[in-house]
Amino acid sequence: MILVVKRAVRGEGEYKMAVAKQEGDEFVVAFKKGENGLANAMRRIVLDEVPTFAIEEVEVVANQSPLYNEVLALRLGLVPLVTDLKSYNLRRDCSCGGVGCALCEVKMSLKKEGEGTVYSGEIKSEDPKIVPSDKEIPITKLFGSSCVEVNLKALLGRGREHAKWAPGHAFLREGAKEEVNLVIEPFGQLSGKEIFNSALDILLGKVKELEEAL
Ligand SMILES: [Zn+2]
Repeated sequence: MILVVKRAVRGEGEYKMAVAKQEGDEFVVAFKKGENGLANAMRRIVLDEVPTFAIEEVEVVANQSPLYNEVLALRLGLVPLVTDLKSYNLRRDCSCGGVGCALCEVKMSLKKEGEGTVYSGEIKSEDPKIVPSDKEIPITKLFGSSCVEVNLKALLGRGREHAKWAPGHAFLREGAKEEVNLVIEPFGQLSGKEIFNSALDILLGKVKELEEAL
């Protein structure tokens, strides 16, 4: 399916068009060649600032798997979680003042006993919308009648704090006809279009802040 979106991107005192389309797993946004700076700013915002959910707190109740608790926690943190940016706040911006509440964290759990591989799809979430995007990521293995039981909290975060919150790969590629392409390859938390639109909102927010400061 080819999705073509045209959005107005404000340049220096005028409006210019960036054309975006889905190409397989890639979301490609074509900028005019003179807009390299804008394309690169968008690339950096995608990598560093577009928030996604990731598991951040791991309470180990039992861990008889071969992995140390720290390694188990690291692997859980790297599982991409489908992210809903409309219903949740970054914890530090939340009305709870950063204490943690239903608007800024999602409780999850993982409990399994008996021989076999433990997969990301076995993580249970209190919000059916915030779940692993890939159900088949191996987390650890269990042997005999051993067990693993962990209570988890997923939080919104940004790639500049930890790479686990980055929404995807983003890079610039030479395009056809005097164009530079911003290529976004999502990891699964958000679609390419959602990532780009979120990055655009962040950029416009920065411009507004700057305008107000002048
Ligand atoms: Zn909160």
